[in-house]
Amino acid sequence: MLFIISGPSGSGKTTLTKKLVCEVENLRFVTSYTTREARNGEKDGVDYVFVSEQQFHQMVKDDKFIEWAYVHGNFYGTPYNTINESQSSEVDLLLDINTEGALKIKKVVKTGIYIFLTPPSLEILKQRLLDRQDIAQPDIEKRMEVVRKEIKISTQYDYIIVNSELDYSFNKLVDIIISEREKKHS
Ligand code: 5GP
Repeated sequence: MLFIISGPSGSGKTTLTKKLVCEVENLRFVTSYTTREARNGEKDGVDYVFVSEQQFHQMVKDDKFIEWAYVHGNFYGTPYNTINESQSSEVDLLLDINTEGALKIKKVVKTGIYIFLTPPSLEILKQRLLDRQDIAQPDIEKRMEVVRKEIKISTQYDYIIVNSELDYSFNKLVDIIISEREKKHS
């Protein structure tokens, strides 16, 4: 099975996906490719595969991505073999990608489970982004614009979780994974 999680940055998505693959059995995180710089503590091949723009564009030409997108000034892509693996393997796969990528995959993988982590409010999300201190003020406004669009798109997801508290969201995500697995095997 393929679980796809989207939601604005600053929502704690990365923490949640890491915790999920650690604590839920038979769930593997799909490492995307990106042209952005690695952040402190990020490992190549684990958090992302970090590539140059030239390498990325070559991979696009070679049809290596099931989807790719330009997000906040950088390219991101999901490797193509993900889909075959998700259909044949006993291990379920988890993707953390933006709404544009998720909608592209939805056209191909009808059986995917699409989960959107929505912020409790736009004000709270803006404050979280400001607290991060690594995004310039004009960029925060641009990101908020993107968030408004993403929230509109979230109606096309199977589940929407109001991400007010990480433990709450984590438990909801585990419930969704367990019940979708049960549905599949019933
Ligand atoms: P960050 O750079 O903060 O890790 O991620 C920025 C955004 O890119 C997040 O919304 C994340 O979900 C999205 N993203 C990460 N990998 C992919 C991918 O392979 N494809 C797409 N479309 N979005 C991605």
